[in-house]
Amino acid sequence: MSNADWQGKHVTVAGLGVSGIPAARVLHGLGAVVTVVNDGDDERSRAQAAELEAQGITVRLGDGDTLPESTELIVTAPGWKPGKPLFAAAAEAGVPVWGDVELAWRLRGRDGREPAPWLAVTGTNGKTTTVRMLASILEAAGLRTAAVGNIGVSLLDAVAGEQTYDVLAVELSSYQLHWAPSLRAHSAAVLNLAPDHLDWHGSMEAYTADKGRIYEGNQVACVYNAADPATEDLVREADVEEGCRAIGFTLGTPGPSQLGVVDGILVDRAFVANRQKQAQELAEVADVNPPAPHNIANALAAAALARAFGVEPAAVRDGLRAFRPDPHRIEHVADVDGVAYVDDSKATNTHAAEASLAAYDPIVWIAGGLAKGATFDELVTGCAKRLRGVVLMGADRALIREALARHAPEVPVVDLDRTDTGAMSEAVREAARLARPGDTVLMAPACASMDMFVNYNKRGEAFADAVRARAAESA
Ligand code: ADP
Repeated sequence: MSNADWQGKHVTVAGLGVSGIPAARVLHGLGAVVTVVNDGDDERSRAQAAELEAQGITVRLGDGDTLPESTELIVTAPGWKPGKPLFAAAAEAGVPVWGDVELAWRLRGRDGREPAPWLAVTGTNGKTTTVRMLASILEAAGLRTAAVGNIGVSLLDAVAGEQTYDVLAVELSSYQLHWAPSLRAHSAAVLNLAPDHLDWHGSMEAYTADKGRIYEGNQVACVYNAADPATEDLVREADVEEGCRAIGFTLGTPGPSQLGVVDGILVDRAFVANRQKQAQELAEVADVNPPAPHNIANALAAAALARAFGVEPAAVRDGLRAFRPDPHRIEHVADVDGVAYVDDSKATNTHAAEASLAAYDPIVWIAGGLAKGATFDELVTGCAKRLRGVVLMGADRALIREALARHAPEVPVVDLDRTDTGAMSEAVREAARLARPGDTVLMAPACASMDMFVNYNKRGEAFADAVRARAAESA
């Protein structure tokens, strides 16, 4: 769409918030007639509304379900559920609905600049890490790039701001993909698929189908996880550009058109002259930070996307070496009395916790919080042999305790029946009591944090504070 197309266009922005406010501003700046609708009507939204209204944008608080008259387009916050009455009204009136990603996609190149291609990443877990690894590799290759999505630069800023980019590393959630019908990435990866957000999507099938949208119209490569056949199925079902290839990543020896690992080396058997016979060394496993199995998978996915974009092997290595993980993602906090303390507060679901539990042995596991409808039998069965002990806390800890009783009855369990701020210190104290030198105390709760903490960051900080206090005592 050109600038002129936006002049006088009646656009309804659904939801004040991280995506809604910038969207409203950008659309208003383009000359659209913008109305923001929002379910909530609290102090915060009133302050935000006042700011937008001062700029000439109409805001309706406390009613997110009535379609404003003469609406020609809805731009929705990604989290709004497809079943909301607003969208039924839109469907009835023949009004299209775009999410923040669709809007960003349509605004690319509007100012006459050649739009930067998107290398896109989705999956149940590992998105942020992979996108940041990818941006690090692209930077090492001398490209002007940014990690965009949930972190760093917002998508709208990246496409509508001053900065010019050669390529973007884009993290996309299943919600965003649901609302982005015309997105066409240069290349894309689905890292893994496990049940998550099913209340929003309605079913595993609907969730999977939304994730699969990321491959639609890919130009060069659809990157899938060879260990997760559902991701490969999505590639098969996608309608892609002529010549676009399916590229797998595996922690084992790669076949042709795959990236994988041979003798501690990350190798590329996809983007080489003769993939039947040749493989190209990219980096060492030790270059991946941290070199836990799931993270090597993330690195391989990032490398595959970079290689699809034509990045040289040396830049893959340099970019991986330069990469530093975000806080609270398998973060080594300290060693105290020969025991390593690791903060994986970001493991807010069982699939994520499974990955970090697979990376250590023996483990004293700190777990619990809000289960969000999850069950823990599979997780406990998978790690039972590696558990030295378990410390449980949080609202849904009984679910984990029962799974432990069923599948690991011999493992000692400390059940903390408190939810105050001191609970984490006690958890760390109890974990230290269970641990022996050489063990890892791993806080990978497999649950959300909001029963006890503001968010997973605060939970991770509480853990790190408690560990540092112990380190100071023992020094
Ligand atoms: P996302 O952006 O998808 O939430 P992150 O990169 O922030 O993913 O990682 C979230 C958590 O998921 C981490 O704490 C880690 O324990 C786990 N994780 C990261 N990568 C993977 C992976 N490839 N497979 C399974 N779990 C992973």
